[in-house]
Amino acid sequence: MPDFRRSDNDRSPLKIVVTVKQVPDPNSNLTLEGDNTISRDKEAVLDPGDECGVEEGLQLKEAHGGEVILVSMGPERARDAIRKGLSMGADRGVLVSDAALAGADALLTARVLAAAIKQEQPDLVICATESYDGSTGMVPPMIAELLGFPQLTFAKKVEVDGSTIKIHRQTADGYQIVEAPSPVVVTVTAAIAEPRYASLKGIMAARSKEIKQVSLADLGVEKSEPAEAIEGVVDAETRKSGEVIEDDGTAVDKIVQVLSAAKVL
Ligand SMILES: Cc1cc2nc3c(=O)[nH]c(=O)nc-3n(C[C@H](O)[C@H](O)[C@H](O)COP(=O)(O)OP(=O)(O)OC[C@H]3O[C@@H](n4cnc5c(N)ncnc54)[C@H](O)[C@@H]3O)c2cc1C
Repeated sequence: MPDFRRSDNDRSPLKIVVTVKQVPDPNSNLTLEGDNTISRDKEAVLDPGDECGVEEGLQLKEAHGGEVILVSMGPERARDAIRKGLSMGADRGVLVSDAALAGADALLTARVLAAAIKQEQPDLVICATESYDGSTGMVPPMIAELLGFPQLTFAKKVEVDGSTIKIHRQTADGYQIVEAPSPVVVTVTAAIAEPRYASLKGIMAARSKEIKQVSLADLGVEKSEPAEAIEGVVDAETRKSGEVIEDDGTAVDKIVQVLSAAKVL
């Protein structure tokens, strides 16, 4: 159990960490290296899912007061992704960058991010449900486990009431209301919030905001051997083309037959 829990009546400002990953530009085609890892020599941007996370962090700060801190692990150029979030309005950033982290798998990524987040002692950690590139969706649950925080996943709405964080958890047919005492890890879907555009003022202000760079040694984390290996990569199954029913006077019957066979009717 973390030693920095909010009390039930706590109305003090929120300390919010948003994890932000720099990913290859979604407008470019993803390509693979010989070892099946994603080629990263392309234009890189802040993960669009994390932009939604930053937006939610900013809206919670606007409602409750507090601070939004962006935490990223990546090479030096990942600063640009943090800077983008800072230009949207986040307060400061932490970049964990270390040559030893090249080739990090999801577990090492989570161990590193958890160590950096722990130093901040936040009330709330916001992550995207899955990244645009790796898309394992494993990092946020691992962060929660490593920090001993409850996790609230697939949030399309987040509410804070004293020490309680409540979410609307998106499901296939609607949503569930789930809550946990802070500090918590919340994963958000793209439905959470439309990311704001950075204003010129925001872009100028971001230039002087702090981005603290830390190494593995600073965090006291030792590199671990990969717990995962990429066994192979296959193309996703292409969608079968639909059936076209020409209307020769029997189309309605044929459509009813197709829908009945699919148990839709
Ligand atoms: C052997 C091996 C080597 C690999 N080498 C690399 C490599 O060199 N570079 C690489 O990028 N991937 C590498 N990967 C893939 C790696 O496992 C994941 O990309 C990475 O750990 C994060 O997982 P994900 O993108 O699937 O995160 P997900 O769990 O899908 O991410 C969900 C959310 O977690 C947060 N998050 C995840 N990663 C970060 C991060 N780095 N910084 C801040 N927030 C984050 C973000 O909010 C993100 O939206 C390797 C995998 C294997 C098996």
